[in-house]
Amino acid sequence: MSASEDAPAAAPRRGPLQAGERVLLVDRKGRRYLVRLEPGGTFHSHAGVVEHDALIGAPDASLVGARRQEGGGPRYLAVRPRLADLVLAMPRGAQVIYPKDLGALLVAADVFPGARVLEAGVGSGALSMALLRAGAEVVGYEVRADFARRAARNVADALGAAVPYSIRDADVYEGIEEEDLDRVVLDLPEPWRVVDHAARALVAGGLLACYLPTINQSAQLREALADGPWVLAETFEVLQRSWHVEGRSVRPDHRMVAHTGFITVARRRGDGELSPGR
Ligand code: SAH
Repeated sequence: MSASEDAPAAAPRRGPLQAGERVLLVDRKGRRYLVRLEPGGTFHSHAGVVEHDALIGAPDASLVGARRQEGGGPRYLAVRPRLADLVLAMPRGAQVIYPKDLGALLVAADVFPGARVLEAGVGSGALSMALLRAGAEVVGYEVRADFARRAARNVADALGAAVPYSIRDADVYEGIEEEDLDRVVLDLPEPWRVVDHAARALVAGGLLACYLPTINQSAQLREALADGPWVLAETFEVLQRSWHVEGRSVRPDHRMVAHTGFITVARRRGDGELSPGR
């Protein structure tokens, strides 16, 4: 399966807002609405009506007034969504990896433009998007056809249809067909069942990165890695604490997401040993 054919080849990233792309409308209270711009279209909210035509051709991050029966409605900010905004707004079946962890995963796994990456499972496609955005060529394995379809749609909607992305209806516990991979990235319950397959499929020095919700699973994964040709294994979590900044009240927000998951990375050791002195 590849990206949907009716999606534009590439999603716009700069320049005026265009018909067909999605914008985030943000009201004064910070409420967000993701809207696809269509000529002649309208966005209705309790606060009033926004004409899409007022936004098509407007600069990114424009303020737009909502029309009200009595006139003089509130204003919205119309902004091209970031990947992180789309991840949180898109339709999801499987739990997505949150933006704070996506960023950390990309850096810890050192994903680079042109990297050959195998990803499993694909879920809703949030991690796929992050990998593709970083320039990787991604093959995804996914056992659920409904998830695969949704992920393909989410990726095409976010990045356009021309990205190097394909999803295979395959169980990664059974094996990995691809060879000479630069990275294997796993977000599924039993990654230790993939460790041997990944060791065969990765190039020497290639990286395995796994995302797991519990530390028990992470420890079991580390045991499997310790038994194989892996070096430089590390496990960490990312805590993000946002702050309230308003006038003289500058302090941490009262609430934070206390737990999402643990990230483990390890590198495939090269086969063979250098003789002493070389
Ligand atoms: N990282 C994804 C979410 C993955 S959820 C995102 O950011 O959107 C885990 C996915 O792994 C589910 O879709 C599940 O169907 C899939 N999965 C579980 N076991 C699998 C296996 N053995 N092979 C391939 N996919 C698998």
